[in-house]
Amino acid sequence: MEIDSDPREAIVRVMGLLYRRGLINIMGGNASIIDRDRGLVYISPSAVPKNLLEPGDIAVIDMDGNVVEGKPSSEYRLHLEVYRRIDSAEAVLHAHLPHAVLAGDLGLNLDPERYIESKYTVGKCVAIVERLPSGTKELAEATAQALHESGCKVAILLGHGAVAYSDKTIYNALDALEGLEFLSYIEYMKSLYHR
Ligand SMILES: [Zn+2]
Repeated sequence: MEIDSDPREAIVRVMGLLYRRGLINIMGGNASIIDRDRGLVYISPSAVPKNLLEPGDIAVIDMDGNVVEGKPSSEYRLHLEVYRRIDSAEAVLHAHLPHAVLAGDLGLNLDPERYIESKYTVGKCVAIVERLPSGTKELAEATAQALHESGCKVAILLGHGAVAYSDKTIYNALDALEGLEFLSYIEYMKSLYHR
């Protein structure tokens, strides 16, 4: 079985899963898949409730951020910057993971290798990005740089959420975000007993 060869359908499904799992609010988060041969990025739209997304809503932009089709997410710069700096990135996912935001604020030590669930999903490490306004070039650059320099595949954006990229499918990026939320939850619960 080929998993969602149509990038528009894959983005719709992944955004729906994030919403139903409570990892984003109705208008939050964004997802993209790159077509490097054509230099185009498929990206979730702004201002469409995530439970109502349809393949026809997915926007298309070029690597300079020019709109080819639709109305891209306001966080499109972040996606483009990750694709520019990390050649192996095939999909990027951004969600407002509640426990990851909490763990970031508390400065908890997040070592994915401590637990099977996170070891095989998050990878070796979690990058941390300072508080920066959403949708800005500064946030896009800081996030892409943190991922690139650390070699981590996920980053927590302080006070905001998390980003994962995948060098395979968008489902691997979803797996990484779910793993990060799991890890953050466990470390937070543990911290309550070690005060
Ligand atoms: Zn966000």
